[in-house]
Amino acid sequence: MKYIRESMGNDLRPVRGTRDILDEEILRFERILDATRRVSALYGFEPLSTPILEFTEVFKRTLGDASDIVTKEMYTFDDRGGESLTLRPEFTAGVARAFISNGLAQRAPIKLYSHGPLFRYERPQKGRYRQFHQINIEILGTAEPGADVEAITVGAHILDTLGILGKTKLEINSLGDSASRDAYRAALVKYFSGFKNDLSAESKIRLEKNPLRILDSKDPSDKKIVADAPALGEHYSEDAKRFFDTVQEGLTASGVAYTVNPRIVRGLDYYCHTAFEFTTDLLGAQNAVLGGGRYDGLIEQMGGPKTPAVGFAAGIERLALLLDEGKNHARPIAIIPIGAAAEKKAYALARSLRDKKIRVELGFGGNAGKRMKRAAKRNTRAAVIFGDDELASKSYKIKQFDTGKEHTVPADMLAEALSDDTGS
Ligand code: AMP
Repeated sequence: MKYIRESMGNDLRPVRGTRDILDEEILRFERILDATRRVSALYGFEPLSTPILEFTEVFKRTLGDASDIVTKEMYTFDDRGGESLTLRPEFTAGVARAFISNGLAQRAPIKLYSHGPLFRYERPQKGRYRQFHQINIEILGTAEPGADVEAITVGAHILDTLGILGKTKLEINSLGDSASRDAYRAALVKYFSGFKNDLSAESKIRLEKNPLRILDSKDPSDKKIVADAPALGEHYSEDAKRFFDTVQEGLTASGVAYTVNPRIVRGLDYYCHTAFEFTTDLLGAQNAVLGGGRYDGLIEQMGGPKTPAVGFAAGIERLALLLDEGKNHARPIAIIPIGAAAEKKAYALARSLRDKKIRVELGFGGNAGKRMKRAAKRNTRAAVIFGDDELASKSYKIKQFDTGKEHTVPADMLAEALSDDTGS
């Protein structure tokens, strides 16, 4: 091992911003996926798995050439055939691509659930990685505000099932429809043009390309100017207002608590109407846990049929950080055969106990003493010990690891005796 470390140098470290996930954390990941699968199924979501690699164009066309993700954060490379490919930095573009490629419009409205790794070249810190994982929910093919209510409700339901809803707060906003946005954009251009010389270089470009982005600027002098910028809410069209009211009524009727925060804007061009975010105070700077919104124009923009849609993504690492200590897997029992005949019988015995949902460690060879030692290392709760005598009398000896007590049970009572032990 030492030799490998010396000869390979840094290569044994994972790439910066990526991590091995093991022990307690991977169990938390599994609890999150399990809860998401169960809860999303209650709402009629179907699982969908899309490739991690997509043509770069899929993200460029949807996220917009000027977005931070496209300009700074994507892992993009030419493959050996000269195609420009990108490791997905988010789910929605790939899901939208799959919706078009598979002709899913025929089945619209359709509800899809996905999960998996994403890649963004960001500065790593606690809760922010270059490879991270999300659960992702999309409802495609309906323009009804009820879909926005359902997307938010399923998000809240998943958080609640995980026991962390109380550690978050839900903020929602409306980005309006295109009429509202046009009016708002014009108002922003007018306002920011008055401060043209004081804006950061980046925001000067944004003023030409997408003035809404200036609102997200982290630059201190931009922030001062943004503080007094006109609010979108003053420019909602009648339709946009009605839509937002209906979403809020639906949330209240569903028992989902929220506050309206006009600062929730979602960074990407394709969002409209509802934008929402569950945030927490418990994770320092990385306070966003789950975020989403409505994106009515995206699929058409990609060349598909007109398909209004709404969805969200939640970071699994951040959810995992918020989870309470989980129940660990039940402790296993060990099978300790003594002698050749018992050794042979051990495989069938292990299978029959596993069929009864009992966790079994068979140990791999060696004498009884070695097997006992190995079993102790695996946090085993009991050992089933048997040799020729036990085989002849159709019985097994059970040794409890915690108390050291031993007793013998008839063969046909074994599973019952082992289950009784833990109440499991
Ligand atoms: P976004 O796709 O940026 O809206 O992010 C949705 C959710 O993914 C956030 O609320 C976070 O929980 C999570 N997330 C985003 N970026 C990262 C990252 N670099 N590392 C870990 N989690 C992330």
